[in-house]
Amino acid sequence: MSELEKQIQIYYDTNKIIKAYHLAFYLAGWDSETGCPIGTIQSRSDALGTLSELGFKIRTSKEYNDAIDYLYEHREELDPVLKHEIIGQKEDIEDTKKFPIEEVVELSKLENEIHPVYVQAKLASDFNMFKPYLEKMIGFQKRKIEYISKDNQFNNYKGYDVLLNSFEKDMTMEEYDKFFGLLKEKLVPFIKKVTAKKLDYDREFTTKVYPKEQQAIMSEYLRDVMDFDRNYTILRESEHPFTSGNGNKDVRITTHYYEDCISSSMLSIIHEMGHGLYELHVSDEIDATMSGGGASMAMHESQSRFMENMIGRSKAFWDTHYAKLQSIFPEQLGNVKEDDFYKYMNEVQCSLIRTEADELTYPLHIMVRYEIEKKIFNGSVTVDELPSEWNRLYKEYLGIDVPNDKAGVLQDIHWALGSFGYFPTYALGSAYAAQFYNALSKDVDVDKAVRSGNLKEINAWLKENIHKYGSSLDPKDIILKATGEEFNPNYYIDYLINKYSKIYDIK
Ligand SMILES: [Zn+2]
Repeated sequence: MSELEKQIQIYYDTNKIIKAYHLAFYLAGWDSETGCPIGTIQSRSDALGTLSELGFKIRTSKEYNDAIDYLYEHREELDPVLKHEIIGQKEDIEDTKKFPIEEVVELSKLENEIHPVYVQAKLASDFNMFKPYLEKMIGFQKRKIEYISKDNQFNNYKGYDVLLNSFEKDMTMEEYDKFFGLLKEKLVPFIKKVTAKKLDYDREFTTKVYPKEQQAIMSEYLRDVMDFDRNYTILRESEHPFTSGNGNKDVRITTHYYEDCISSSMLSIIHEMGHGLYELHVSDEIDATMSGGGASMAMHESQSRFMENMIGRSKAFWDTHYAKLQSIFPEQLGNVKEDDFYKYMNEVQCSLIRTEADELTYPLHIMVRYEIEKKIFNGSVTVDELPSEWNRLYKEYLGIDVPNDKAGVLQDIHWALGSFGYFPTYALGSAYAAQFYNALSKDVDVDKAVRSGNLKEINAWLKENIHKYGSSLDPKDIILKATGEEFNPNYYIDYLINKYSKIYDIK
C-alpha cells in the first residue's frame, strides 16, 4: 500500500466513526424534537455531552488531521470528489485553529447566556435587555473576521465578506449588492403597485376550522404527488417544521398543523419535501463519502422554495389537486371556487414578520437585514441604533410602521446565535430557484408535468442536474452545469413580475 493509499484509508476509516456519531446525534435530536418524555432531558444531555466529547476527540485526533494534511499536500493526485472534500476540510481546520482558546471559551459562555436573554427580551419586547449581549456577540464576530482573514491561504476576503463567504462560498458584498440593488430597483416599485390593489374574492373559507386529522390525510396525498418515497422517509409533527436526515436513505420531515389555517401546513410540507428530495437524490457514490447533503444553505433553500412557491403555489398544481382538497374538506371548501383558493394562496401583503411573508415581499425582509448587517460591520451603525434603523428600513422598503421591537429588530433568533451573513442566503435561494426553473423549462414541459398528477419527471431533472452531486461541487459550479450560465438574478425578478402581474392584473 502506498503512503497515499494508507492516508486515504485512515481518512475513510475515521469518517466511518464520525458518521456513526452523527447518526447518534441525529436520532437523539430528532427524538427530542418529535416527542421524547420531558423527564429525560437531564440524563440524556449528560450522555450526549460525553458522546460529543468523544466525537470531538476523534475529529481533532492527530492521526486524522495528519491524514488531511497529507492528502491536502497531495491533492492533485486525488479524484475530483475527494480533492474538493479535502480542500474544504483543510479550510475548516485552518479557520478553527486561528481562534485563541480564550476566545472559544468566552464564546461558548456567551452562547449559553445569550439565548435565554434573547427569549426574555423578545417576550418583553425590550431591546435594551438584549443589547449588552448583542454587543458582545457583534464584538466576537468582528474579531472572528480578523482571525479568519489573517494570513488566509484560501481566499482574500475581508470584513463582512468573511461572514458572507462562510454561509455561501464566494458570495461577497460585491455580488449581493448587485443582487439586492436590482431587487430594490425593480421590485420595490412593483410591490407598491401590487399592494395598492386588493384581490377580489370571498374570504369566508379562510375563517373556517380545518381539523388536523383531515389535514393529515392531505399531507399523505401530497407525499404521493411529490413522489416522496415512504421506504426512506417519514413525516411527524413538531413545533416548527424542519427536515432532518442521515444520508440518502433516511430523510425525515415535520409539520405543524394550524386548524385555523389551511395553507400553512400544506406549504410547509411541500417546502420540507423540497429539502428532503435533495437529500434523497444524492447519488450512492457521493453518499458514501463526506460530500453528501446539499451544496450550501442557498442551494438547499432553492430546492425547498422551488417546490413551495413555483410548484406548490402554481395554477397547474391547484388545477390538478384542488378537487382532492375539496373532497377532504367538503363543508369548508365544497362551494369555494378554485380560482378564489388560488388567489388566497398567492395573496400579497406588506407585513412585519419575515417568516410569515408572502413570496413576493419576502426578499424585502431580507434586504433590510442585509443592509443592517453591512452597516454593523462597516461601523456606520451602532448597536444602540439598530431598532431605529430597522424601523426606518421597514418603512422605506415595505411602507409599514413597526409598532415594537418584538415585531421588529427582535423577531429573528439568528443574531443571538451569532449567524451574521446567513440571512442573504434565503433570498439567494429563491433566486437560484428561479434560474433552475428557467433551465428546467427548456427540457421539461413543466405545466404538463405538474398536471400529470405526480412530480416524477420534474424530480428526475432536479436529481440529474442538481441533487446527485450532493456537496461535491461548489454552488457556482452546479449552477453553471445545470443552467449553462453563471448566477443571474434577472430570472428571479422576471419570474416574480410575470407571475404577480397576472394575478393582480397589472399591465
Ligand atoms: Zn427551508
